[in-house]
Parts: sequence; structure tokens; C-alpha cells
Amino acid sequence: MIYFDHNATTPVDDRVLEAMLPFLKSFYANPSSLYRYGRIVRSAIDAAREQVAALVDVQSSQIIFTSGGTESNNLALATLPPQGRLAISAIEHPSITEPALRLKRLGTELSIINVDANGLITQAAIDKIIKKKPDLVSIMLANNETGVIQNLAPHARKLRANDITVHTDAVQALGKIPVSFNQLGVHLMSLSSHKIYGPKGCGALVFEKGIEIKPVLLGGGQEQELRAGTENVAAIVGFGKAAELAKTELAKRNEQLLALRELLEAGLTTIPGLTIFAQQADRLPNTVQFGIPEIDGEMLLMKLDQKGFAVSSGSACASGGSMPSPVLIAMGVESGLAKSAIRISLGLANTSAEIFEFINLLKALVCQA
Ligand code: PLP
Repeated sequence: MIYFDHNATTPVDDRVLEAMLPFLKSFYANPSSLYRYGRIVRSAIDAAREQVAALVDVQSSQIIFTSGGTESNNLALATLPPQGRLAISAIEHPSITEPALRLKRLGTELSIINVDANGLITQAAIDKIIKKKPDLVSIMLANNETGVIQNLAPHARKLRANDITVHTDAVQALGKIPVSFNQLGVHLMSLSSHKIYGPKGCGALVFEKGIEIKPVLLGGGQEQELRAGTENVAAIVGFGKAAELAKTELAKRNEQLLALRELLEAGLTTIPGLTIFAQQADRLPNTVQFGIPEIDGEMLLMKLDQKGFAVSSGSACASGGSMPSPVLIAMGVESGLAKSAIRISLGLANTSAEIFEFINLLKALVCQA
């Protein structure tokens, strides 16, 4: 299989797996236990917390480990006061839109922040939303489908100046571009391990000191009493190692992925009628989403699958349905073209030979159609 779906998930790095194994085999004590074995495991969690904190430029006490990006996003939205006001962008992941819709059903006032044709939030859209006086605004840092990176810092500054709490879902940005919690100026940030060559089922919510987190899970008082439950130790250790590697190798990874993306885009633009979505916007170095008129994206995905290529027709969580991607619709893409969308998300093991093979196959499949 040629794997081009790294925004859905990444393989676990061998060095990450190596770091995890002792905590599955030998150091299985409960980190809350007071005896020596428990304390050894506790110190491994502490070290991982330092590693994740260093990647996003915060103190380790600002990290709450969770079961992943979905839980972190749900926990962030749970900071809203009852009957509060929430604003989210029109291109958020379902792990923001779904809890937001539930909150709306329970009485929260929900506003949507529109994006332009490049999937970007404009200053005018921010000014408009400020007038609605939301308690919390959630804007993703990089989009999982198009790869578009928001210019978040100026928006966060303006929202913060109006006493609005700002959350960002940085799940896709992490490990691909520099992500500094303080430079972005947000109050809350969601992270996930399995998008950065760490294990699945682990993530974090980063929070500014003073922000009141309302725990969703109550119980044993773990994670500063903000997220109860015996820690997923091996996964946390793996997430820490993956974060350390992402930090030291970020520039090299970025350069390598961008070179592959440029090769891919050069090939794609030779296919008549093909549109690369948000091509003019600042995008993640590994992500390209394109559409071809009159081609059904899901059908094309299946044909590519038969030839051994793993791609996505949009967000992994949204695939399976035949609805056009809400992200592309929010950008004003015509519904037929949106339904033809294919997302390629490259990873560190991909090669230029794979890109050439893909372009040749795509040309052949499009000609047949
Ligand atoms: N946010 C974004 C932007 C994502 O792309 C994803 C996963 O695809 C998530 C959140 C959910 O993360 P997790 O799979 O760790 O729950």
C-alpha cells in the first residue's frame, strides 16, 4: 500500500514504540501508587508532560493529558458557562461541531464564523462575531481537509482584548508547522498524539493558568483533578517521545514534505480541469485537496484503493457519507466539484517515486472516466 492519508493518522515511529514498550511490559504499576514502582511510572508521565509542553512552548503544568483531540475539543467547549454564547468557525472538525450543536440544543447561543474562498477567516468576520459577545470562540489552526493555516494570532489578540476566551484545535498543525501557545495568544489548545507519529488514543488540552476547566470525567483526581481516570501511561510516554522528535526534526520534516507536495502539485496541474482547493492560501506542507469536474470523489478513492493507494475523499471522520464536504461548501465551492474532492496528506516515509506513480495512475483513471 502507498499511504497518502497522514492527516487521518500516522504510523507510530519506531523510536516512539521503543520508548513505550517498557511501560507495557515491565513498568505497569499505577502512577498513583505510592511505592517505588508507582513513582517510577509517575516520573515517566512527568517527563512526557515536559516533552509535550516544550513542543508548544508552555509550562508542563498547563498540559492535561486526554484520550485524544476529540476529548480535548469536548473538554474545551465544556468551559462555557451554562446558557453561554459560543462561536465556532464554519470549517471545524466534527469533534467541535457536534458538541457545539448539542450545546445549542441545551440553550447555548451558537454563532458561526464564515470563511472566505480560501478557507480563511477575515478580520471583518472576527469584528462581526465580537458584536455577538461570545464567551468562547473556537477556531482551528490548520484545516484537516484543505490544510489551510489560519492567521490566528491577530484574531486571538482582538478577541482576547474583548474578554473572549479563545480555543484552537491545533491537532493538524502540530508537528507540521511551529505551534507556540503563547505566540498564538490563545487560552486553550487541543492536541493529538496519533497525527505526529505517536500512538492513538492520547492527546492533550493546553490551558492558560486561570482559565476555569470544568472536568467532563470525574473520579480519581488525576491530571490536577481536571481529567480523572488511570493514565494511559504507555501512550502518554509515546506522545511525549513523538513530541520531542517533532520538535527536534520540525524544520527538516517541513522541508521534506514541502518538496514532495510541490512535486505532487506540479503533476496535478497537468491534469485538465483539476482544481487544487485553497491553492493560494498558506497551507500545511503535507496536504493537498483537489477536485476534478464530473468525477465522483468516492468512486475515484475506490479505484485508487484497488491500485494500492490510500487517500481520503475529505476528512476521514466524514467519509462514508455522500454529502459534499462542509468545509468546501463553506468556502463557496460548487457542490458537484466539492463531491469530487480527494485529499492527499503526505508523510515522512513517502517518496518522489510514489508521487510519480500516483500522478500517472490518476491521469489514466481520469481519462477512462
Ligand atoms: N481535530 C482535527 C482537526 C482532526 O483532524 C482530528 C482527527 O482527525 C481530531 C480533531 C480528532 O482527534 P482524535 O482522533 O485524536 O480524537
